[in-house]
Amino acid sequence: MTVIGIDDTDSRQRGMCTTYLAARVADRLASDWPVKRRLLVRLNPAVEHKTRGNAALAIHTSAPPAAALEAVETDLDLVASADPRTNPGVVVTPDDPDAVPERVVEFSRGAVRSHHTIADAREQIGDYGYETREGGNGRGLIGALAAVGAWQAHDEWTDECISYREPARRGAPRDVDAESVFGAADRAYPDAWDTVDRVEGDLVCVPHTPGPILHGIRGDDRAVVEDVAESIESEPVERRSLFVTNQGTDAHLQAGSLGTVTDGRAYRVTGTVETAPETREGGHVFLEVAGDDSSERLQCAAFEPTKRFRDRVRNLRVGDRITACGEVADGTLKLEKFAVRDLAKTELVTPTCPSCGRSMESAGRDQGYRCRDCTTSRDGKTERRLDRDLEVGWYEVPPVARRHIAKPLVRGGFDAPTHPER
Ligand code: ATP
Repeated sequence: MTVIGIDDTDSRQRGMCTTYLAARVADRLASDWPVKRRLLVRLNPAVEHKTRGNAALAIHTSAPPAAALEAVETDLDLVASADPRTNPGVVVTPDDPDAVPERVVEFSRGAVRSHHTIADAREQIGDYGYETREGGNGRGLIGALAAVGAWQAHDEWTDECISYREPARRGAPRDVDAESVFGAADRAYPDAWDTVDRVEGDLVCVPHTPGPILHGIRGDDRAVVEDVAESIESEPVERRSLFVTNQGTDAHLQAGSLGTVTDGRAYRVTGTVETAPETREGGHVFLEVAGDDSSERLQCAAFEPTKRFRDRVRNLRVGDRITACGEVADGTLKLEKFAVRDLAKTELVTPTCPSCGRSMESAGRDQGYRCRDCTTSRDGKTERRLDRDLEVGWYEVPPVARRHIAKPLVRGGFDAPTHPER
C-alpha cells in the first residue's frame, strides 16, 4: 500500500482547492490501481497560514510510489506556477496506512492541536526517507506529513461527499435548487448533518467562497451522504468524490485548565461564570469564567456570526458552572459549544425596603444598605430566586457557524444531555 499526503495546493487564481486536486489524483490513479480511501483531514484551525479550513489530504492506494508521484505531479506543477502564495507539499510513503511509524502518527496528532515548523516536518521526512515534492517555501510538507500519519492518529471518522463544478462555471454564482437541498437534508437527518441551517434558511453545504466545490454533504453514513448529493438538483457536476474525514469530531479540543490555556490551541475548560454576559459593539457577547482557584480567569466570547447561540450565552448567569469549548486567541476563548453543569438558582440583588418597597441604597463601604426615607436597613445584598431559560447539558453554535472540525451535538457521545441545533 502507498500513502500520498498532499497539502497547500489551493490557488486563488485558478480556483483550485486541495480536496479537488486530491480527487483528480485519486480518480487518475483509480483507472489503473485500486484506491482504497481518500482522507480529508482538518488540522489545527488556529494555524495562521491557512487559506480557509486548514485541510490536508491523503490517498491510500495500491499503486507503487513512483506511479503515485507521477499522478500527483501534473496537477502540482499547474498549481505551483499559477500562484506564488501557495507552498505545496507532497509526501509519499510505501508504508501501509496502519503501519506508519509512531513518530509520524504523533506528528499528525500534534498538527490538529498545536503547531509544527517546516523544519520539524523535513527532519522526520529525512529520517524515514520519504519521497517528497514541494513548491514555494515547502510549508505544505507539514500538512502532507500530518495527512500520512492521520489514519492512525484518529479513531473517529465521518464522511463527506463533495461534488465539483464544471471548470467553465467556476467563479459564476452556483446554481443549486434550495428546495431539493432542504428536502434531502430533512430526509437524511441525522445521518447527514450540517447540510442546511433551518433557522437561518441557509444552504450550509454550498460554499460561499470561490472555488471548484458545488456542495459537500457531511454525515455518518457513506451511502446516505452520497444519496443526498445525488438527489440535489443543480448545475452539472464535473465529478464527485467521497472522503473519509475527521470533520465533526472535536479532534482539535484538548482538556485544559483556565489558568494554563495558550493562544493558538483549542480547549475544553470547566469553571464558574464570574461576570454577567455583556453584549458589545458588533453584537459579540463576552463573559468571564473563573476556576476553583479564583486567580484563574478566562474571557469567553460568542461572536456575532454564531447568531442564535449568543442568546444561549446571554442566558448564563453569574454562578453557573459550565464547560466551555473553543479556540483561544488573544487570551479569549471563542465559544463553539458549552455544557451547563450546574445552574445558579438564586442571584444576589440590592435589597428593597420592606416599608416603602423602593430599592435601598448603599450605606457606604462594608456598611450594608439603608432606605433613605424610612429607617430600615440591611447588612448586605439579598438572595432572589432566578427563573432560568437554560437546562443542564450541551449547547452549540448553529450549523451556519460550525467549524469543519467541531462535533455537532446530534452525533452523540456527549457526557450530558444535548440541545442540538439544526
Ligand atoms: P483549503 O481549505 O482551501 O484547502 P487550507 O485552509 O487548508 O486551504 P492551506 O493553503 O492548506 O490552507 O494552508 C495551511 C498551511 O498550514 C499548510 O501549508 C500546512 O502545511 C500548514 N499547517 C497545517 N497545520 C499546521 C500546524 N499544526 N502547524 C504548522 N503549520 C500547519
